[in-house]
Amino acid sequence: MCGIVGYVGAKSAVDVLIGGLKRLEYRGYDSSGLVVAADKALHFVKDTGKVRQLETRVHAAWPQAFRQRVGMGIAHTRWATHGAPTRENAHPHSDQTGRLALVHNGIIENYAALRQQLAAKGHTFVSQTDSEVLIHLIGELYKGNLFEAVCAALKHVEGTYGIAAVSVDHPDQIVAARKGSPLVIGMGENETIIASDVSALISHTRQVIYLDDDDVALLTPAGADIRNIHNVPVSREVAQVDWDVGVAEKGGFEHFMLKEIFEQPDALSNTLRGRLDEQMGTAMLAGLALSPRELAAIRRVVIVACGTSLHAGMVGKYYFEELADLPTEVEQAAEYRYRNPIIHPTDMVVAISQSGETADTLAAIREAKQKGALVVGICNVVGSTIARETGRGVYLHAGPEIGVASTKAFTCQLAVLLMMALKVGRARRLSRQDGLEICAQIKRIPDLVKAVLDRNAAIIKVAERYATAKDFFYIGRGCMYPVALEGALKLKEISYIHAEGYHAAELKHGPIALLDEHAPVMALLNNIAGKEKMISNVQECRARQAPVIGVLSEGDRDTATHVNDALHVPLAPHLSAPIPTAVALQLFAYHVARLRDCPVDQPRNLAKSVTVE
Ligand code: GLU
Repeated sequence: MCGIVGYVGAKSAVDVLIGGLKRLEYRGYDSSGLVVAADKALHFVKDTGKVRQLETRVHAAWPQAFRQRVGMGIAHTRWATHGAPTRENAHPHSDQTGRLALVHNGIIENYAALRQQLAAKGHTFVSQTDSEVLIHLIGELYKGNLFEAVCAALKHVEGTYGIAAVSVDHPDQIVAARKGSPLVIGMGENETIIASDVSALISHTRQVIYLDDDDVALLTPAGADIRNIHNVPVSREVAQVDWDVGVAEKGGFEHFMLKEIFEQPDALSNTLRGRLDEQMGTAMLAGLALSPRELAAIRRVVIVACGTSLHAGMVGKYYFEELADLPTEVEQAAEYRYRNPIIHPTDMVVAISQSGETADTLAAIREAKQKGALVVGICNVVGSTIARETGRGVYLHAGPEIGVASTKAFTCQLAVLLMMALKVGRARRLSRQDGLEICAQIKRIPDLVKAVLDRNAAIIKVAERYATAKDFFYIGRGCMYPVALEGALKLKEISYIHAEGYHAAELKHGPIALLDEHAPVMALLNNIAGKEKMISNVQECRARQAPVIGVLSEGDRDTATHVNDALHVPLAPHLSAPIPTAVALQLFAYHVARLRDCPVDQPRNLAKSVTVE
């Protein structure tokens, strides 16, 4: 999920690696490290915290003459998925002999089974990471040829990876491989660089090769020999990058927020990966650590969260009530913590926070724990305070989110809530057949989102027509009601347009007084349940001259006749429909903000992680 840099050539590898890691810092990370090969040994330095701290450690550990003469090494910024952000868990990791080392981005799904097999052969591990298991496996299969050992090991691996590996026996070689986690090779003069993102290498060369999934590359100062995992050569084009560093960091997108909106099919695939049990029709959420018996004993779900996570929780209420038959309450965390809430030992309190550091949510779970509730977390940042204090829960695995306005974390939170409700539901009332159908719906989510992203150009056209609005109303019903709240929040956060989300039925209890031709309404009409009622609410708005944008299911021509403009999303079952709908609203808000020249990634007055009350 985070950063890799590797260098082999005539320059000081240490300087190139540290410089590259600094270029990758914008992505967010929790620890970093590097290894270089010299004098028939591997030399490691790792640390938690900032790359600057790592650099200080490197300078203290290695004299300048050493740093200047070392010509090969690999480095990493870690964004923990398995094991807390500690120095032991920081990469690079080494094999059993200490003669091979590896940096890894991604997740080795079957690491637990591999770890067990290797432990039975006498391997001992110093970290909790999935990545260390991979380098031990490579070491186990290593017979003097690193490239072959990497290929052999990868045949046993399930999951995603971008890796770079080195061996003390070949101080002029790096072996890199990718599956689902990006890697790009920089082709310099007598030097070759590997990185997870071009921004780390464009100060050295602009000739690059993007690796494809299943490619394995042998890098030497002379260039790259790229093969597939079965050792068959593949040809990859050399591309010329003319982006400046700022654009490169954003992967060619104008803003991090847009990059993160477009990352959602991948982020959601990562959230779902290895978690759907298509035999039993349930979800496998090992971090919940609750047996079916314990799940069946739950009598009530209480979701505590703030902001976008609160909206995710409000959708979650529909999931838990419908799939698990459990009364579910959703509470603003600050309200909950100060209200002396009634909590029973049979309550499951679910805390949702992208950063895992939200002050009010943290205080809410402390209160719930104090009163004996079962507390679980849904966080993106591994090892964060909420993750640690709940001790059980589900990570999003959405990758670092940099844009202050949350996008991919929201949709991944919905996917996790849906899987959680499915799991609890299967322990209580859902049949295997029901579970299988829901699994099939969940599996389609990344494709549904992709279909919305494909309609970006059409969404821009609608955004252009409304970019000068001063007020906006978003309305929905059922599980689209919280999506309307989230859509309005996105618009106000980044475009500064005054936007309100309401339940569509609530409009005539007050807000309708504000409607006129200058107050557009975004109506979520793609939910099949309640659509007729929504259409009546749309008519009420139009009768007050308010222009209406409808979010419509693809091909729904009848409903289209009731609205002035439309954002189309693929037809989806009502449980998964909130996710593609949210993505359409994110794109709409983004384009409106861009057209108004707003600083999309750093909206005024907002912070990414709200660690104060
Ligand atoms: N799964 C690995 C770990 O937790 C890699 C994390 C990353 O991509 O930074 O160490």
